[in-house]
Amino acid sequence: MPELPEVETVVNELRPKLKNKKIKAVRVLMPKMVAMGPATLSNLRKPGETVAQDFAKALKGQKFTDVQRRAKMIIMDLAGKYAILVHLKMTGQLIFFARKELDKQIRLFNIEKSPFVHLPTKSTHVIFEFTDGSKLFYNDFRQFGYLKLVTDKELPQVAELNSFGPEPLDPKFTFKEFENLLVKRPNAPLKSWLMDPTVIAGIGNIYSDEILFYAKVRPTRPVKSLKDREQKLLFKGIKKILTDAVEHHGSSVGDFIRPEGDWGTYGKIHMVYGRSGKPCKICGTIIKSLKFNGRTGSFCPYCQK
Ligand SMILES: [Zn+2]
Repeated sequence: MPELPEVETVVNELRPKLKNKKIKAVRVLMPKMVAMGPATLSNLRKPGETVAQDFAKALKGQKFTDVQRRAKMIIMDLAGKYAILVHLKMTGQLIFFARKELDKQIRLFNIEKSPFVHLPTKSTHVIFEFTDGSKLFYNDFRQFGYLKLVTDKELPQVAELNSFGPEPLDPKFTFKEFENLLVKRPNAPLKSWLMDPTVIAGIGNIYSDEILFYAKVRPTRPVKSLKDREQKLLFKGIKKILTDAVEHHGSSVGDFIRPEGDWGTYGKIHMVYGRSGKPCKICGTIIKSLKFNGRTGSFCPYCQK
């Protein structure tokens, strides 16, 4: 599942491409993938029309102004009174092709045997067609993601945007604020605590493993067991690992690909995630994985105490 670095990559790479693009038409091939906020819906809905029809109708002629991220949510701002929220969930992909690239073939999965394909595929559920001939495709193999049209007015109240802890890469996220979060769930295992979006936004399975390796602490340790030195290292690890992962355009694990069809490269330098049974890159001890609280945490039994 895409985490903060992957969603940040999508946002950073889509922003310059979508800016000032005017929507000629939206084709919704899988109606359940689109939704509308309550205010948006009641304003536009006419008897006999489906949400998918209304979604496409409302967006026709609209122009994109910006693309932003909050936690794992992508917010695509439009010049009018709307914004589109996109959540990639497990396997969502946003792929942008300029007019001259429409014949391009890409590999949709990060495995060598994944064939090169043209878009749209069977997993393409929504297509934005722009007036300059370029297109934005929303693919989602497992169909857990969504695109939701909301008005600017209802945006601040959208529940999906208000239930998150601080943004870890925000300069305003300081060690002092981090210390306040430590007392929130003192008995939680460190991995569960890091992955709790109400504590810190955007950290999932991959980056919690990598951050805990950096901080040299085991995923199962309760938050309150951290010594001062370990707290500092954990805070530093959150910033460092997420920053490095953004610089590498995220980890292409499973279905994550960048908007031009390229893969993120951070997966190549994972220290523990996905490396269970392999030797630790630092000490050579075999990386272990442990299931707890419904999660699997991978760690080095020697480097992590
Ligand atoms: Zn080790």
